[in-house]
Amino acid sequence: MAIIGGGLSGLSTAAKLHRLDPSIQLMLFEGGHRLGGVIHTEQVGKYLIDHGADMFSMKPSAAIDFCCELGLQDQLIEPKPAGRGARIVRNGQLVPIPDGFVLMRATQLWPMLCTPLLSLQGKLRFLLERWISPTKDDEDESVSTFVQRRMGQEVLDRIVAPLAAGIYTADVTKLSMQTTMQAIASMEKKYGSLARATAVRRRSGEDSVERGSTGARYGQFRAFRGGMIELINGIARALPDESIKLNCPVESIRPNGNQWIVTESGIDREFDHVVVAVPPKSAIQLLETTAPQASAELAKIESASTAIVVLAVSASDIQSPVNTFGFVVPLSEKRRILAGSFASHKFSGRAPEDHVLIRVFMGGAMQPELLDKSNEELTAIVREELGELIGLTGDPLLARVIRWNDAMPQYHVGHRDRIRIIDEEIDRISGLSFTSNALHGVGIAPVIKQADQVARKVVACLKESGNASNG
Ligand SMILES: Cc1cc2nc3c(=O)[nH]c(=O)nc-3n(C[C@H](O)[C@H](O)[C@H](O)COP(=O)(O)OP(=O)(O)OC[C@H]3O[C@@H](n4cnc5c(N)ncnc54)[C@H](O)[C@@H]3O)c2cc1C
Repeated sequence: MAIIGGGLSGLSTAAKLHRLDPSIQLMLFEGGHRLGGVIHTEQVGKYLIDHGADMFSMKPSAAIDFCCELGLQDQLIEPKPAGRGARIVRNGQLVPIPDGFVLMRATQLWPMLCTPLLSLQGKLRFLLERWISPTKDDEDESVSTFVQRRMGQEVLDRIVAPLAAGIYTADVTKLSMQTTMQAIASMEKKYGSLARATAVRRRSGEDSVERGSTGARYGQFRAFRGGMIELINGIARALPDESIKLNCPVESIRPNGNQWIVTESGIDREFDHVVVAVPPKSAIQLLETTAPQASAELAKIESASTAIVVLAVSASDIQSPVNTFGFVVPLSEKRRILAGSFASHKFSGRAPEDHVLIRVFMGGAMQPELLDKSNEELTAIVREELGELIGLTGDPLLARVIRWNDAMPQYHVGHRDRIRIIDEEIDRISGLSFTSNALHGVGIAPVIKQADQVARKVVACLKESGNASNG
């Protein structure tokens, strides 16, 4: 059994397969020199820096369950209790997100009426939401169309768009409601409006977590004491020795009778099953001849790039400190950063007590041109922006720029149909599976959930063909 890609998708599929049937002989090919793909952690002196993801959601439960399966539960930490919540920049100020506003739904009314983020007209327009009829059809629409239609332009521009952009580094005029905010889209259909959905959920106690949150439900997230790399290391430890091949970019795959030929560095190897677990750009190439429809659909999935500028600064160099986990920046503020995350406020063990570790996100789908700048230029921009937003002065104690090119697949309107075509074609091809964060969710939890489903399907197929232990 070959698994192509040593990111979270490939690794978790491999670990799930091994757990389901330890007799399956696995070989995982990773093109790079290390495992983890976009997940990586670096310890630089006293600072622990997550290069990509820094926490995962416990919903769906796939990620937390997997951590328990791997025996990693003792290494998990919760976000710190103080300062939970995020802010939104408005006229150069960091304004708290209204209490109870989670992603795109206000679970409390009063904070929405008091927030300085919205004008009086914006608040009145928001209040109309209850009386706006839901759309009749089941067509996908963009996040911006949905929010404009239901809550008005101000709620979109000043609250939802920067929050959604912070997660997906996306253009909300293209971002698909059905595949990124499915729960909210369903609430509209089921209850007629988000206000009515919220009233029903309040009465049944379903919104208790959301009502106590701002921006994200931080209580539902977990991180690793030693950074997210602990998850990757934990998975790697669970795999059989010799099953991982680093620096082995796979060039092609092709069927040969009821076997598959995997070609890497000009060497052909034969396997009874291949799991492709690479991002769209690589998958397009690998699947081109064997799954042309899937490959063509994958070519339509755009991916955004981002740079994270990490600064460690002395707490005394911040003249306007804010007790928050981070902030997001609406486009209308005309700034050159997307979001900032105070890693040392969020988690313990990231920096010494009197230092602050900040990760600032730049680029994304809306400001890709910024990524043409040099690391020095990006760092200078971030220092300038943080100077204006939090009164940062002095020289940073550490500065790092981490670039992720084409790392964030964009779930645009129509994504669900595109993925159905991909899944259906792959399902028809015997001995081939495909899993990626470009399909059914970008977060760590949905990626692991997909891996689990793929592994179960593979084991069932192998059992059916009686090949389970033939490698
Ligand atoms: C900046 C950033 C921040 C994020 N923050 C969070 C967060 O806080 N919480 C959260 O839940 N999620 C977060 N995510 C999302 C999550 O981390 C990713 O969706 C997930 O890790 C993707 O895993 P993957 O294996 O699908 O892809 P990747 O990590 O891209 O891995 C794919 C692997 O395949 C390898 N590969 C490619 N081509 C070949 C080939 N031909 N042969 C062999 N190997 C190949 C690559 O080298 C790579 O290692 C974040 C993502 C990014 C980019």
